[in-house]
Amino acid sequence: MGSALGFRTLCDNPLHHNIQWERLHMTAQLIDGKALARSMEAKLAERIRALPRKPVLAVLLVGEDPASRVYVRNKVLACERTGIESRSVHLPETATEEDVIRQVRAWNEDPTVDGILVQLPLPRGIDAQRVIETVALEKDVDGFHVGSAGALVTGREGFRPCTPSGVMEMLESIGYELRGKHALVIGRSNIVGKPMAMMLLEKDATVTVAHSRTPNTKELALAADVIVAAAGRADLVTADMVKPGAVVIDVGMNRRPDGRLCGDVADDVRDAAGWLTPVPGGVGPMTIAMLLVNTVRSAEMRLLAQ
Ligand code: NAP
Repeated sequence: MGSALGFRTLCDNPLHHNIQWERLHMTAQLIDGKALARSMEAKLAERIRALPRKPVLAVLLVGEDPASRVYVRNKVLACERTGIESRSVHLPETATEEDVIRQVRAWNEDPTVDGILVQLPLPRGIDAQRVIETVALEKDVDGFHVGSAGALVTGREGFRPCTPSGVMEMLESIGYELRGKHALVIGRSNIVGKPMAMMLLEKDATVTVAHSRTPNTKELALAADVIVAAAGRADLVTADMVKPGAVVIDVGMNRRPDGRLCGDVADDVRDAAGWLTPVPGGVGPMTIAMLLVNTVRSAEMRLLAQ
C-alpha cells in the first residue's frame, strides 16, 4: 500500500509509551462503498436472470420509527434496482409479539419467499430475539438467528450478517491481505462487533475487541493495522489513535446536533489512515448489497436445487 511511504517510524513498538511518529501529511484513499455496492448489484442482476423466477425478500416493519422507515425504503429500492421482488408488511405500533410471529411463520411456510427481514428495533414489549429465532434458518438473510451465529462461530455454511460481510467485501476490494495483521473491532454487538471479529479471525487476522469498558482503546488502536469502528459514537476514533497507513472502516451512523450524518471516525483520520470508508457512502450501501447477495443465494439454493 502506498500509505507506508507516508510516515517514518521512530519507534518500532507501537505500544511503547514514547511512541513518536514523524507524520508527513498523507490523505487516506477512500473505499467507495456506494460504487462497490452498485457493481455487486449489477452482478446479482445477471445471476437473477438465470433463475426461473425472481427472488423474493419479505420485509416486516412494525411501528413508526422514522429511521426504520428510511432503512426499509432503501432496502426495497435496492431490491427493485436489482430485480428482487420485495413484499413489505407494515404492522402498527400496537401489534403484539404474537402478531409479529404469526406474520413471520406465514412467510416461513410460503415456498415463494426466499428471505425474511424483520426491521429492528421492534416496539417495546416485543422480544426481538424471540421473533428472530422464529425466522426459518434457511430464510435468515439478515444472519441474526442463533443458528446463523453458531454457523459463523464454528466456520460452517450459513447466512453471515450483512454489515460485517460488507466490510469484508470492502477489504477484499482493495486487495487487503488480513493474514497476520492485527485488527481492532470497537463494539461488541451481536449484529456488528461480534460477527465482525469472527469474520476477521476467519481470515487469519489477530483480533482484539474493544467496548465501553475497555480502558486502553487508544493504545490498542495504535497497534492495529485495521480498525473497524462500530460503537455509534461520533468522533470516537481520532487521528492520534491511528497507526499511519492503517485501514479504518467506519461502521458508525450518528447524527451531529446540526442534523448531519457522521460515523465514529473523526475527520482528521484522513490525514493518518491509508484507507478509509466514508460516511455516508461507505459501509451503509454495502450492508444493503450484502442483504441482496444473501437473498439471491437463498433463492438459488431453493430454485436450483430442485
Ligand atoms: P450497539 O448495539 O449500540 O453497540 C455499540 C457497541 O459499542 C457496544 O458493544 C458498546 O459497548 C460499544 N461502545 C459504546 N461506546 C463505546 C466507547 N466509547 N468505546 C468503545 N466501545 C464503545 O450498536 P450496533 O448495532 O453494533 O451499531 C454500532 C454503530 O454502527 C451504530 O452507529 C449503528 O447505527 C451503526 N450501524 C451501521 C450500519 C450500516 O449499515 N452502516 C449497520 C449497523 C449498525 P458495550 O457492549 O460495553 O455497551
